[in-house]
Parts: sequence; C-alpha cells; structure tokens
Amino acid sequence: MPTPRIRLAVLCLLSCVLCFATSASAKLTALVGGRLIDGWGGAPVNSSVILIDGERIKAVGTTETLPVPAGAEVIDCRGLSLLPGLWDCHVHTMLLGHSDYTHWDATYPNRLEKEIMPAAAHQLLNAGITSAVDLGAPLEASINVRTRIAKGEIPGPTLYVSGPFIQHEPYPGTEVFRWGVKGADDARAKVKKLADAGVNVIKLIDQDQMTGEEIEAVVTEAHARKLPVIAHAHRPDEIRLGLKYGVDRFEHTGLATAPEYPADILAAIQERTAKMSLGPLYWCPTIEGFFNYEYTVANPLHLEDTGWQLDVPADIVADIKASVKHPGWLAYYQITPLRAKTSAAKFAQLQKTGLVLLIGTDSGIPMKFHNQSTWRELDIWVNQLGVDPMTAIRAATYWPAVSMKVDQDYGTVSEGKFADIIAVKGDVLRYINLLQRVDLVIKHGQRFK
Ligand SMILES: [Zn+2]
Repeated sequence: MPTPRIRLAVLCLLSCVLCFATSASAKLTALVGGRLIDGWGGAPVNSSVILIDGERIKAVGTTETLPVPAGAEVIDCRGLSLLPGLWDCHVHTMLLGHSDYTHWDATYPNRLEKEIMPAAAHQLLNAGITSAVDLGAPLEASINVRTRIAKGEIPGPTLYVSGPFIQHEPYPGTEVFRWGVKGADDARAKVKKLADAGVNVIKLIDQDQMTGEEIEAVVTEAHARKLPVIAHAHRPDEIRLGLKYGVDRFEHTGLATAPEYPADILAAIQERTAKMSLGPLYWCPTIEGFFNYEYTVANPLHLEDTGWQLDVPADIVADIKASVKHPGWLAYYQITPLRAKTSAAKFAQLQKTGLVLLIGTDSGIPMKFHNQSTWRELDIWVNQLGVDPMTAIRAATYWPAVSMKVDQDYGTVSEGKFADIIAVKGDVLRYINLLQRVDLVIKHGQRFK
C-alpha cells in the first residue's frame, strides 16, 4: 500500500499532466483591446476580445464582458482595427503581373503549379487575403494548389477555383486553361468533367459567341452540381445572354469606352434582382486599374515594391520587370484612360440596380500584383466612387462568403466560424488604404503575419 504522502504526490503529478494536456490541446488565443469591425455592418466594437480555439472563433466580446481565460496566449490589439480576413473574388494565380500574355502562356506552363501559383497565393495571404476565387487556370494545377494550401503544406488563402474557362473557342496557345465547347452535349460533358474534378465555380467567357443551347447546358449542368456560374460582362450580349440563361455573377464593368449601360440591359438586371427567390445577383466590377493606370505610368513606384517578388524565382522576376519596363507602352492599356472616364458612371448604374457588388481585382494581369490589388480596389471604391467604407469592407468579407455559400464558416468574425482575422494599425473606416500594410493575418486560427 502506498503511503498517503506518495498517493498525494502521484495524484498531483497526474493532475499536472492532465492540466498540461488540456491547455496544450486547447491552444486558446485571445485578441485583446482592438476595435472590431465584425463584418455584419453594425457599429465597430471597441476594446474587443476575440477568443480563438484551434481553427475556430470560440467567443467574441469586450474587455468588460468576456474575460480572457488563464493560460490563453494574448495578442495585444490596442490601437488596431480588426476585421474579417479579406476576400478577393477575382484573382489569377497563374499570372504574376507580366505584360505579355502570349510570352507568359508559352514560357511557363510547366512552372505554374509548383512555382507561380504558390507564389501568388503566398503574396495574397501576406496582403490579408484569406479567401480568394481563382478564375481560370489549368484544372489539375488549380485543384492541387488548392489542396496543398488546405492541408497547410504551402501558405495561401482558402481557394475557390474554376479551373479552365468555358468558352466557344480557346485562343491559340491557351488550351490548357481554356476549354472550347461544341454543342450542348459537349458543354454538359465539359462542365461535368470540371465538377467531377472538384471545382468550386464555373467560369464562362465569350458566351456571346456560343449558341443559346450551349449556354443553357453550361448553366443547367453547373446548377445541377450546385456550382455558381461566373460570366464575363465585357460586351453587351455577354450580359444579355448571361441574364437570359441565369448566370449567378458577372465580371468587369465592361462595354469598352461606352459611357453607360443600355436601358434594356439595366431593365433586365433589375428584373433579375427583383426575383428574391433566386437570391442576389452578384457583380465584380474589377475597376481600380482604370483609375490607377495613368498614375502608375507616371509613378511606377509600385513596380519596384519587392512584395510582388515574394517566392518568385529570380529569372521570372527579371522577366516580369523587363516586361513592364515602359509601363506607358503596353498596347493592352492604351484605351484605359478612355475607359476610366466612363467606368464611374457604369459603376453607379450597377449600384442603382440593386445587385450586390463584390471586391475582385483580376489580380495577376499586367502590372497588377497580388500583394497590392485588393487594397487598391477598396481604395478606389471608397475614395473615387463614393462607396462608404463599411459597404466596401463587407463587399470583401461578408458578401463573398454568402455568394460562395460558405457564410456559415466565413465572412464575419463570429462565434463558431473559422478564425480568419486581419488587423491594421489605426482607423480603417476613416483611412481605408491602411489596408495596404496589414499588420496581422490569422487564417483558420494560425497566425501568418
Ligand atoms: Zn480575370
């Protein structure tokens, strides 16, 4: 029989071991004292306390209402604005800002999956983008990069991928990430192949070159597999046909230098937004490039920002640099100043129709780098287009999560959701472009910055 003293010692030891085991497995983190913009649109919460348990948010309160449990790791957030991790609803991880698509597509297909797409993902996460919709890349690479991020093998946002675009005919040399369809059966088969591979959305482009039967087949098959259809809106008939066949979201303000959307298109959008049973119609205007182009040409400082070079092999950095050496000489952008003059009016027209605008940037296209695109889009919405900062932030947090039907897990800082939280020093509702320097990035409870 052990003596009472030995029994006591064993009990103490045992309880210590149990105690240690509990605190180690709980991994409680407390973000204390920051000003929380939770994503729901209400007044910010001052002196907030957010408790994170593993991957998820355990509780949200204030220093008065929510005590920090003993043993929790405390992160002092006084003086910081806290908000849900940002979404960028339109990125291209297979691009890194190089100005020549033909050269890029011919040179780097074998380096997309292992080098280029992971670099883009890391840059996005560093900029506070904890979720991103990747619209157009080779299928296998898209799925594999998304999986590696989800498993924690490489850093990056939670990705929602389309894999290859669906269109009438791929442009020469782009067949690995653009699939042409010939007839309704082929359209259904291609969508089925994408769905079977596990894509999250279907990306439709140039639908004004497809037959009605083909578009209908794409949308019907996608919806049968519970996949939203995201369609380009560059030309009037792309919008008309997209609305007619029930796509869920449009991209870009489009219509080249036309001063406004024609009345029949606005009427069709309004008819669609009036149908409550279909849920909101989403639109991602990807508009900042128009406003920032001339500034960039005159002040190419952001081309020298080393943030866009993170994880990019030296030879590719050199190639990109050379391609944007004369930022004012890119044929692609010569029409941009004219488009800039009309895009604010078109943005305002869209706002009035009652659709839900989302923050998405086309990140990766010429001179548009993954570490900079999202905050610039927010900046233009707020400082050039008159969107109030809370609405702009919700277009990059709450609404994207709803649009991807994952709002039970993402989009706000709320009990039970994944802990995707970012923070910046200062008042982000007064100075939205503070988001260009994100001080803290937490994704699924793990701190990356
Ligand atoms: Zn795009």
